[in-house]
Amino acid sequence: MSTRLKLGCIADDSTGATDLANNLVRAGMRVVQTIGVPPGPLDADVDAVVVALKSRTIAPEDAVAQSVAALRWLQAQGATQFYFKYCSTFDSTARGNIGPVTEALMDALGTPFTIATPAFPENQRTVFKGHLFVGDLLLSESGMKDHPLTPMTDANLVRVLQAQCKRKVGLIDYQVVGQGADAVRARIAELKAQGVAIAIVDAVSNADLLRMAPALAELPLLTAGSGVAIGLPGNHGLAPSSQAAELPAAEGLQAVVSGSCSLATNRQVLDFIRSGRPALAIDPLRIAAGEDVAAEALAWAGEHLASGPVLVYSTAEPAAVRAIQARLGVEQAGGLVEQTIARIAQGLVERGVRQLVVAGGETSGACVQALGIAQLRIGGQIDPGVPWCHAVSPAAPGGLHLALKSGNFGTDDFFTKAFTRLQG
Ligand code: ADP
Repeated sequence: MSTRLKLGCIADDSTGATDLANNLVRAGMRVVQTIGVPPGPLDADVDAVVVALKSRTIAPEDAVAQSVAALRWLQAQGATQFYFKYCSTFDSTARGNIGPVTEALMDALGTPFTIATPAFPENQRTVFKGHLFVGDLLLSESGMKDHPLTPMTDANLVRVLQAQCKRKVGLIDYQVVGQGADAVRARIAELKAQGVAIAIVDAVSNADLLRMAPALAELPLLTAGSGVAIGLPGNHGLAPSSQAAELPAAEGLQAVVSGSCSLATNRQVLDFIRSGRPALAIDPLRIAAGEDVAAEALAWAGEHLASGPVLVYSTAEPAAVRAIQARLGVEQAGGLVEQTIARIAQGLVERGVRQLVVAGGETSGACVQALGIAQLRIGGQIDPGVPWCHAVSPAAPGGLHLALKSGNFGTDDFFTKAFTRLQG
């Protein structure tokens, strides 16, 4: 019989969902991440579920509708506390979507109060007197000020969130948090009496996140980055344990597919090639010319798979990517490469690969879709933010292990280390 679901989470993008799931697992919860809102009931015995949406920059009405649908599904699975996860740099526009989604979830739950904090000091995101710092810089002076979709030009989160909300936004500052959970509870009561419905909460250290956690147990809805999650399993008497991260034993052939052109991925591809293992580059121009690059790659992989991990990659240096984009168009190039890599991933799994590393956020989305994967059980962390996962696919009914690495994550030896970690 399944134990009761303790926490139901809604994430506004898929790598953010994995980041949150990873933190919950590290703190002792067994976690499944679903790709969108599942059509049927949950088929897993876990403590928390993270529903991954793609709602960060869509129209606020759509983000609200999808988030409320996710909430209703999580309620139907028995969850009683809910967590709306957004980016630790509070990525949003003047219209949302953090504010509108938060208020819609409050309405749906009939709850008068919630918190909002993107703080995750371990990852260089601190909130002091309501101001968000990215490393040593105010948010508004960090690279986020020039973000193409969600430029963040004000570091004062009370002001930023107030601009997106009808309800009144207030602050629980570091002095209150420093005094512990009872002080936080008292401050919440005080703010509620003043008509405040949403409070930005300061945190300048991971200890602050752990200190505030007991006071959060009583709130039906929490809204935060992934940091607040580190204190929540403790509210249910759970402590970090290897069981939380336990996945079925690894078996089968090993492969890496990479469609990420980020700095870290370029280094990882180079490191894999230098280690002497088989690697095949695929050429976007040949894909665009209609050649069956995927079939070629699969034939090539078939010759090498038996002797250890292989790598198929479109990863290229910025100048090469710009040249391809100039010839094909940015979106056209991206879509063609994503679809080809996804077909290769599917073909590899059909040929017996059961340990698959995918590099690239969008690339991962395309591969997960091609493999028909609906949910991922989250296992142990390979590098910060990147866990091994286990999933069932029509191409692998017995399941396979997957690591979905977004662009700049992971050390240079990630593509070899990942497999060593899985055996360990
Ligand atoms: P990251 O996580 O590093 O941002 P993504 O997979 O999200 O990686 O994005 C990389 C994008 O670049 C994808 O759309 C991918 O198809 C595209 N791409 C990959 N290789 C090339 C290439 N050689 N030339 C042009 N575009 C490419």
